[in-house]
Amino acid sequence: MTTHDSPSGPVGQAPGTPVPTTAAHTVRVDLTGRTALVTGAASGIGRACALRLSAAGATVRMADLDGRALAELADQGVGEPVEIDLTDLDAAEEAGRGADIVVNNAGVQTVAPVQDFPPERFSFILRLMVESPFRVVRGALPHMYERGWGRVVNISSVHGLRASAYKAAYVTAKHGLEGFSKVVALEGAAHGVTSNCVNPGYVRTPLVERQIAEQAAAHGIPEERVAAEVLLARSPVKRLIEPAEVAELVVYLCGDDASFVNGASLTVDGAWSAS
Ligand code: NAD
Repeated sequence: MTTHDSPSGPVGQAPGTPVPTTAAHTVRVDLTGRTALVTGAASGIGRACALRLSAAGATVRMADLDGRALAELADQGVGEPVEIDLTDLDAAEEAGRGADIVVNNAGVQTVAPVQDFPPERFSFILRLMVESPFRVVRGALPHMYERGWGRVVNISSVHGLRASAYKAAYVTAKHGLEGFSKVVALEGAAHGVTSNCVNPGYVRTPLVERQIAEQAAAHGIPEERVAAEVLLARSPVKRLIEPAEVAELVVYLCGDDASFVNGASLTVDGAWSAS
């Protein structure tokens, strides 16, 4: 894999930290003839997954609230836009129908101490990040079982394996997604269907950019100290992950060579969870 110096991004990177280029794909996977549904495909990790799965030959259905961003991707030939609110659970289940590959990715974050955490926001996050993936997969499995092949990739997080203060709903949701992923792995195994979690540390996406102010308030520090003192404090590799690096692992999991990788939680966290 070739590398270049990291650009200095808005959230801050150590200068000179090598970052893999996104120009060359390291994983060789042919997904011609496969249909992939990617949720939250308009931005960040979902967008990178849509681009990568499309480059591997899959027909990609891009599901997101943001119809305008989806239309731009569709204009570039990345895939078919599916403008949808995934908290509409019946619509989410319908979106899953006919997919050979499901990438459950859409997610949001709220940073607040438990005693101040808005209860309706807690319910909303569990609906979007646990119930909706359940319904998408519920819609997709009959087709996968019929074909004797399927791939479910759940974009979890280090927070599916570890907790951080002030993220009650997110950590709860990701731990729930981990459990769901393992059940699908057990049930799907006999049908050629795998289900795995991908567990990134902090990825350079709008979701991370948006939480800087909330993190600063919750931790009582200025915003410019959040990257070093909060986001990267527990990561031995002191840089944010690029969305394309996560997508590279996702596309590997979708290939035939990964048929024995099932029920796993694969960290992309710079050794955060090793400590
Ligand atoms: P992002 O904010 O860049 O993108 C999320 C996308 O989800 C957006 O396009 C948004 O429109 C869409 N979305 C949100 N609510 C929706 C809804 N109700 N219906 C349809 N679409 C909806 O975020 P990201 O950082 O790319 O995060 C993607 C996933 O990766 C999330 O599940 C997140 O928890 C996980 N993750 C992110 C990081 C990180 O550091 N960014 C780390 C680990 C895990």
